[in-house]
Amino acid sequence: MPNITTSMKEHDIIKLKHHKEYVIMAVLKDFFIGLSENQMLNTAAKKYGLKLGAQRVVAGTNISETIESIKKLNAHGISCTVDNLGEFVYNREEALEAKEQILQVIEAIHNHQVDAHISLKPSQLGLDIDYDFCLNNLKEIVMKAKSYDMFINIDMEDYKRLQPSFDILTELSKEFDNVGTVIQAYFFRAEEDMKKFKDFRLRIVKGAYKEPPEVAYQSKEDIDKNFIKLIEWHLLHGKFTSIATHDHNIINHVKRFVQENNIPNDKFEFQMLYGFRTDMQLQLAREGYNFCTYVPFGNDWFGYFMRRLAERPQNMNLVVKQVFNKRTNTMIGLAAGAFMLGRWTKKGKKKRKRK
Ligand SMILES: Cc1cc2nc3c(=O)[nH]c(=O)nc-3n(C[C@H](O)[C@H](O)[C@H](O)COP(=O)(O)OP(=O)(O)OC[C@H]3O[C@@H](n4cnc5c(N)ncnc54)[C@H](O)[C@@H]3O)c2cc1C
Repeated sequence: MPNITTSMKEHDIIKLKHHKEYVIMAVLKDFFIGLSENQMLNTAAKKYGLKLGAQRVVAGTNISETIESIKKLNAHGISCTVDNLGEFVYNREEALEAKEQILQVIEAIHNHQVDAHISLKPSQLGLDIDYDFCLNNLKEIVMKAKSYDMFINIDMEDYKRLQPSFDILTELSKEFDNVGTVIQAYFFRAEEDMKKFKDFRLRIVKGAYKEPPEVAYQSKEDIDKNFIKLIEWHLLHGKFTSIATHDHNIINHVKRFVQENNIPNDKFEFQMLYGFRTDMQLQLAREGYNFCTYVPFGNDWFGYFMRRLAERPQNMNLVVKQVFNKRTNTMIGLAAGAFMLGRWTKKGKKKRKRK
């Protein structure tokens, strides 16, 4: 007979270990999100080129390097969606610069005849400055892409930009059919949005930003459940579904679901980020599934890179092996601790002040 006292102890130890891991992950997540939003670090990183192992997950700092990366993926039967990285666009000049850069990427994709389209973020094109200004920038991009029969995906950002981004999509769809967007499964309203936009090419994701419990599911279980529900519905009723995830459980579920429901391969594709689970990307393409890699490029890489580490702090081991040894990992741990302590102290002060 098992010793009940021992197994209870073991159970408690496992519970404690999971709790400890959860707390460490939560601290690291906040830490990396904090870094991603740090304007000084973002500006500094631009000057020094791809560092800290970012070259593993960012395809290049300029268009020609990026085209070379796309050609390599195309050679394996993988198509690409190209993202011109950019953070903190507060003035019209920067937004216009970003627009010009995207127009040049479209031109380069066409000139090199590579299998690729564009992903873009409304905030980079001026959404936070002026809605109409942003809409006009997007119109110009979508019109140019249309002339080359190229698709434009409007990436989804945080909650406050969600409705304006859908409004832009609705406006653009009055003139163009080469545009689509993203549904983030963590939002309570995701199902309603997906049904409204079912006749668009949609990318379905779990959601990358930190959103409050008033608008979004918080637990992995709830998010995964909704993610699967949305994918299944859109595969059955939607136009074309991009399933964007690195989660093998979801991917295996989709493989079974499409087989059981006779959904042909040309109705959907899998998507993953450049540099993540590359073996699985190649394997899915070899198995005959449509596969599209999200290819970020540019010198504004820091925020993107930090968000990837926030999503999955284990990526730190995969990505920055060559720079971070045990000692630097410990230093990061200490910095994260100091950072959180600072935040908690600040919160405490604020609370005391309010009182
Ligand atoms: C192509 C693409 C486009 C995206 N566009 C948007 C967007 O417009 N807006 C937005 O909010 N979000 C976007 N995202 C991010 C997305 O919302 C998620 O935050 C992100 O993909 C992490 O969730 P996941 O589904 O990949 O799996 P997770 O929930 O991060 O991981 C689930 C499990 O998968 C396994 N796993 C995950 N990653 C790895 C890895 N690298 N190596 C080994 N195992 C791993 C682990 O077992 C893990 O527990 C995009 C993601 C992709 C891939």
